[in-house]
Amino acid sequence: MTKRVGVVTHDEMKKHCTFHEHPERPERIESIMKELAAQELLQKCISLPCREATTEELTFIHSVEYVTRVDESVAICKELEDGESHYLDPADKDCFLNEFTARAARLATGGLIDLVEKVMNDELDSGMAIIRPPGHHAEENKCMGFCFFNSVAVAAKVIQQKFNLQKVMIVDWDVHHGNGTQHLLENDNSILYFSVHRHDNGNFYPIGNSGSPEQIGKGLGAGFSVNVGWPRDGMGDAEYLSCFYNIVLPIAHQFEPDLILVSAGFDCALGDPLGHCNVTEEAFGHLTQLVLSCQKRGKVVLALEGGYNLHSLSKSCAQCISVLLGAPPSSLHSLPKVLMEGCPEDKPLTVSSQQKYKLADPALDAVKTMLATISAHKEHWVLEHEESVLNELAVKLKPLEEVKQKELKKAQRKKEKALRRLTRWEMQFRR
Ligand SMILES: [Zn+2]
Repeated sequence: MTKRVGVVTHDEMKKHCTFHEHPERPERIESIMKELAAQELLQKCISLPCREATTEELTFIHSVEYVTRVDESVAICKELEDGESHYLDPADKDCFLNEFTARAARLATGGLIDLVEKVMNDELDSGMAIIRPPGHHAEENKCMGFCFFNSVAVAAKVIQQKFNLQKVMIVDWDVHHGNGTQHLLENDNSILYFSVHRHDNGNFYPIGNSGSPEQIGKGLGAGFSVNVGWPRDGMGDAEYLSCFYNIVLPIAHQFEPDLILVSAGFDCALGDPLGHCNVTEEAFGHLTQLVLSCQKRGKVVLALEGGYNLHSLSKSCAQCISVLLGAPPSSLHSLPKVLMEGCPEDKPLTVSSQQKYKLADPALDAVKTMLATISAHKEHWVLEHEESVLNELAVKLKPLEEVKQKELKKAQRKKEKALRRLTRWEMQFRR
């Protein structure tokens, strides 16, 4: 049966733009909407009107002073000469503003809140907010990383209060750590924040400790921030699916959320110019299916965050919406087809199914990363089975990794030797 899937977007979000070349551009929304129409998915969804978030809603999370500063930027931007830019923080040139930014940011958050509300009211089964500017880097008093208002964090808080929800889960698969979402919610044990992202030992945006596995939440919220921070680029389907099977699913099944919001960034997709990871469009369908399986009534709302390769962005969004509508996820290139067939909507895949369906092996350093997260959460979640599965995998992968490293070194030596020979030859030639 086709599900009732809500989609929210607004043309005026496209007016937030800059005259500089910038990856976070209006064409992102345009390309997604075009792809959804071309695949005849949009016609199957329920399009919702979009309204601005109120100041009362925004100040669930942001300070009044910060919201006022964003609002006041409209008048400042109207005064700018052609080619002039305005920034809330002159040191942060990532967050460009024009006279439409404040409205676009309010529309993004307001649209998401209404969509989530309709899902909680049972008017819709699930939904996706095709919104910009993105939100998960935005802090209480600060815009960051193209983000102004933290739409997902605001929606989580507003809806939680409105519906008296005990437990909300946020799954953030954007390639960057959602520092804003974590900071705004890290003392809260009623909202669980999970993020999988590139960390590169603190060398990937947002630089520093943000999103390291030992950041587990604070005070009452200890255990309710869960971070898987990859050590490098190049992570793909096997790593992401393994992370969902071994960490997201078992934790979600223990937490039993009333609602799941997804900070759906597609900058971990294959070909993204910022993320340099390899998640295929088909895998996003699988991730969506897995998230659906984590909430017993499938109450899931996706909100667009990053994603800067228009092709992979639009195709991946289409896969997510197709799965929300009830279609099975498309077959993955690197996994046996049986994985897909083992994914009926009423019977979520569990860790034991993972062994049965022989998921392609993730890279050794990704396995070690997941083990670090599990180790940091020992006191909070039961993950012993997953830990032993990953430990066994690490033992199996180690000799293969050693061979790979040896081969890489050999190739490097060969290259250096060739280079030395070339230099000698050049010297002789010059003489
Ligand atoms: Zn991102």
